[in-house]
Amino acid sequence: MTQPALAPVSPRVAVIGGGPAGLMAAEVLAAGGVQVDVYDAMASVGRKFLLAGKGGMNITHAEPYPAFVGRYRERHEPVAAWLDHFDADAVRAWIHALGIETFIGSSGRVFPLEMKAAPLLRAWLHRLREAGVRFHMRQRWLGWQDGQLTFATPDGERLVQADATILALGGASWARLGSDGAWVPLLAARGVDVAPLAPANCGFDAGWSAHFSSRFAGEPLLTVAAGVRAANGDIAWRKGQFVVTQTGVEGSLVYALSAPLRDAIARDGKATLWLDLAPDHTAQRVVDEVTRGRGSRSMSSHLQSRLGIKGVKAGLLHECLSKADHADPARLAAAIKALPVTLLHARPIDEAISSAGGVRFEALADGSAMLRALPGVFVAGEMVDWEAPTGGYLLTACFASGRAAGRSTLDWLGVAGGDRGGM
Ligand SMILES: Cc1cc2nc3c(=O)[nH]c(=O)nc-3n(C[C@H](O)[C@H](O)[C@H](O)COP(=O)(O)OP(=O)(O)OC[C@H]3O[C@@H](n4cnc5c(N)ncnc54)[C@H](O)[C@@H]3O)c2cc1C
Repeated sequence: MTQPALAPVSPRVAVIGGGPAGLMAAEVLAAGGVQVDVYDAMASVGRKFLLAGKGGMNITHAEPYPAFVGRYRERHEPVAAWLDHFDADAVRAWIHALGIETFIGSSGRVFPLEMKAAPLLRAWLHRLREAGVRFHMRQRWLGWQDGQLTFATPDGERLVQADATILALGGASWARLGSDGAWVPLLAARGVDVAPLAPANCGFDAGWSAHFSSRFAGEPLLTVAAGVRAANGDIAWRKGQFVVTQTGVEGSLVYALSAPLRDAIARDGKATLWLDLAPDHTAQRVVDEVTRGRGSRSMSSHLQSRLGIKGVKAGLLHECLSKADHADPARLAAAIKALPVTLLHARPIDEAISSAGGVRFEALADGSAMLRALPGVFVAGEMVDWEAPTGGYLLTACFASGRAAGRSTLDWLGVAGGDRGGM
């Protein structure tokens, strides 16, 4: 009697980390026909994704592709290799296929119609479960033992055998949502080149005087421009908003400049944030107004009535200018258009929106998401060494790199065919 042919057993892939990058990798793997198990340290997946949705989830950006790719600064080339397969349009098409409509805001930012992440995550998890993806919660990955993955679980330590592993463990901001950067020493000990994690899209400490912070902490600057001086001396001004905090500054305009500010502090011990407190007036108009006769009026009520400089803006001029400069109309006018604010430290990484640093691209096998030092182990998402401003660029790169990791894993396993979804 001939034995019935055994059905071939499909390879088993462990995806560790259930954020947007890990879930996207799981989607590609499941479509490729392999068994997928997602492990996460938290009680549920996608916690940071859900938090990102609280303030109005900005999922991607509608600007032209070359500008979009340029947002990834020094890492635009390897990130473009991901985005070439899954760009902003692909992100939108993917969300629409989950039954969630999107719209483009006036800034070009793309949002789900309801501005929330929860309906999107619900629909996505449903799709993944339907595709056979299994989820294992409260499983904290601790490394490897005898070639197996080790997890701390509520029932004690557990060993897991997998044919390939995708690590999508995130950076180190908002550790209470699960990504705490504890993976850094685990990979470094295995010879993986990891750039130290650093805050990105973060606030800064400015060393305010007690008087200034007691009067102005919490005050927003709503009509202002800011910039960082480039090596050639130019300042590329951008308009936006930020908030004065107890110790310094935070908010979208500061986040947008945080990479060069952070790098300057690392290099020089401090950085200068330049502020234009009257961005709607020309420098000449400001000079004219500051120097024009003001009768018996004080300079502060003159600046308020002629240029709208009052409250926190007036406070910043007093805080950041010497008395002599403040009393000199020409220097005061110049400072209104370019006020140097000295920043001393980036705020701690746990407070940042995202992390810079992580597994260096040089640690990856050519054209793959696989670690050179650890064959069969792939990485995705914010734990890889790239950074981007807010504006949907973070999530888009996480999605795209999750897909790239899923694709690399299928290739490495020699899995042919399957719907690799948009690759
Ligand atoms: C307040 C806030 C608002 C944001 N808003 C936006 C926005 O509007 N648009 C945008 O593009 N981006 C936004 N982001 C950034 C975006 O959320 C992140 O870049 C993205 O979630 C990173 O995805 P990831 O999958 O790489 O990692 P994460 O989402 O951090 O997921 C990593 C997962 O790995 C798990 N994990 C970590 N270590 C272990 C371990 N040892 N064992 C098991 N599991 C582990 C974690 O529990 C977590 O679930 C925001 C971030 C924050 C904090």
